Amino acid sequence: MADNKLYDILGVSRNTSDGEIKKAYRKLAKEFHPDKNPEEGHRFKEISYAYEVLSDPKKRQIYDKYGLKGMQEGGMQDGGGFGGAEDLLSCIFGRDLFGGFGMGGMRRRQRGEDTVHPLKVTLEDMYNGKTTKLQLSKNVLCTTCAGKGSKSDMTTTCRSCKGSGIKVTYRQLGPGMSQQMQSRCSQCQGEGEIINEKDRCGSCRGRKVCNETKILEVHVDKGMKQNQKIFFRGEGDQQPNVEPGDVVIILQEKPHEKFERSGDDLRFSHAITLTEALCGFSFIVHHLDGRDLLIKQSPGEVVKPGDVRMIPNEGMPHYKNPFEKGNMYITFEVVFPNNHFANETQLKELENALPPRAPFTMPVGDHVEEVDLHDYDPNDKNAAGGRGEAYDSDEEHLHPSSGVQCAHQ
Ligand SMILES: [Zn+2]
Ligand SMILES: [Zn+2]
Repeated sequence: MADNKLYDILGVSRNTSDGEIKKAYRKLAKEFHPDKNPEEGHRFKEISYAYEVLSDPKKRQIYDKYGLKGMQEGGMQDGGGFGGAEDLLSCIFGRDLFGGFGMGGMRRRQRGEDTVHPLKVTLEDMYNGKTTKLQLSKNVLCTTCAGKGSKSDMTTTCRSCKGSGIKVTYRQLGPGMSQQMQSRCSQCQGEGEIINEKDRCGSCRGRKVCNETKILEVHVDKGMKQNQKIFFRGEGDQQPNVEPGDVVIILQEKPHEKFERSGDDLRFSHAITLTEALCGFSFIVHHLDGRDLLIKQSPGEVVKPGDVRMIPNEGMPHYKNPFEKGNMYITFEVVFPNNHFANETQLKELENALPPRAPFTMPVGDHVEEVDLHDYDPNDKNAAGGRGEAYDSDEEHLHPSSGVQCAHQ
């Protein structure tokens, strides 16, 4: 239970008098003051905190009895006596604080980063559900050295960061203003300690972790969506004294050749002929679960270009409630017949069957002039006439396009 860390920081022994503590603090505070020693800002915080605790008889008593952990719990009992002690402690000491304790029920352990993997899945998989095996490589604690990195379990405190793993630098912003910046110590990679080269573990070469291939079974549930996340708690990279992060799988829906998904609805467009649009049709849609849906329209029920029809409950299953489904929507395209698809007699018959045409009365007089009606394709760049973009000058009537000849006669 004995925890000497705060005494060590001030370089005094456990039964030092208050006066000695004060003296030690003053000396160190001078030496490590950020103004003098901007590299050691972290150290200065430690010194200040150690003095704050050890110079207060009540706090010192609790610390002597229960150590740093007791400082946290004491804060809770006191109802604000050491308000925010936990934050302060973990802020100052980082992971070192908790390294020595049996982590029982303590949440504030440093947590590793999540590993994020995109996983491409088909719309079929999201409709039917699927289990995919995903192979990934991750760092695990070395089993040879149990994550210590050394053979002898001996480490030396990193000189560059004094064991904190963090380098604090001050940047002068202006007169009397400076910005404090923290970065991971490059000498020890933030570990705070360095292992002698000869003492390094042979398996992990002092890295404390080894790379391992792991296979995860990813359950893609019915109705899961694009960008949905699947979590594997604690399956991220392992590091000593760090709670591993999660492996996070992010689903990426592959585009489907027929269906477009919007929420739980499925949409597609379907081309029918003019004959079908007027006289009815049947067609088959191959669904995502392998069923063939027969879609019928009775003769006489007219479908116009751009019309949308809906089939209830044939969309995607709802996530977590797969018996409920969205709808299926069909947008119809109507393909008209080509020129001269029928002879004059057939056209007469067709006209008889269709609704009568709008009445037309031919006006009389010289002002009536019959003009030519040409095919026009807005995408054909040569047929730019009439849009006034290319020819805004009257001087020359250069109309290279055959489609825009002037109607002089
Ligand atoms: Zn270091
Ligand atoms: Zn090892």
